[in-house]
Amino acid sequence: MTVDAPPAPPAPPRIDVLGVPVARLTFEELLAQLDDALRRAGGRPEYYTYVNAYGAILAAREAPYRAAVAGADVVYADGIGVVWATRLLGGPCPERINVGPVELGRIVDLCAERGASVFLLGGAPGIADEVARRLVAERPGLQIAGVHHGYFAPEEEAAVVQRINDSGAALLILGLGPPKQEIWVNRHLAALQVHAAWCMGGLLDQVAGAVAYPPEWVRRNHVQWLYRLMTEPRRLWRRYLLGIPEFIGRVALQRLGLERQA
Ligand code: UDP
Repeated sequence: MTVDAPPAPPAPPRIDVLGVPVARLTFEELLAQLDDALRRAGGRPEYYTYVNAYGAILAAREAPYRAAVAGADVVYADGIGVVWATRLLGGPCPERINVGPVELGRIVDLCAERGASVFLLGGAPGIADEVARRLVAERPGLQIAGVHHGYFAPEEEAAVVQRINDSGAALLILGLGPPKQEIWVNRHLAALQVHAAWCMGGLLDQVAGAVAYPPEWVRRNHVQWLYRLMTEPRRLWRRYLLGIPEFIGRVALQRLGLERQA
């Protein structure tokens, strides 16, 4: 009598990359998860964020950011380097999820369809207002519950939470950049009455037209980091020119079982 080999265990839904639990899902699956969260009544908000090579080394170095990212319901692979790392580490992500203007359009279209209003938090004064104006101009059915810039003092945080709750927003979009956005949302998650909070980094600047958005071929060829480096060299050179080699080195060490976190 032959005994069938037991079926291979299902691949885990998340894979650890430098201490970050990276979710192995597609953008469509994430959108479906948001849809569920928007329909659900009450409960703790869902919290989504992303990780790229820069975020992963930040997480490996800084425990508070690592803890804040670990508190997310979904951390998706925003950079091709992270997708590559998940392959090397034995739990490949199905795709890179890069939320640009098109994906943001899908997200807010879903909100409009569900009658779910959106609060935009982040960027310099005026940025979130401009994003709101542009989004609503393209889809009059969308309700923007409120906006707030991202440069508030720690003592103003409770008032910002209150303002978001009073607005009745269902989705909070944060553009405070890592690590601030993750630490902020993780700290206030229990007090926030939204259905979902989604960190989007510098996207608000791009949608507002304050920073150039890379053309589609740049995205397709995964050289967005190079494009951003050329458009904002002073702010970003350290992140990419030092960060990418460090990321590759640390992932190689993790593969060999030698990576240690701070
Ligand atoms: N930002 C903010 N408050 C702060 C620091 C940054 O609102 O205290 C905003 C900043 O104006 C910019 C974004 O955060 O819009 C920076 O995001 P970044 O480009 O670093 O994120 P990425 O998209 O690269 O992950």
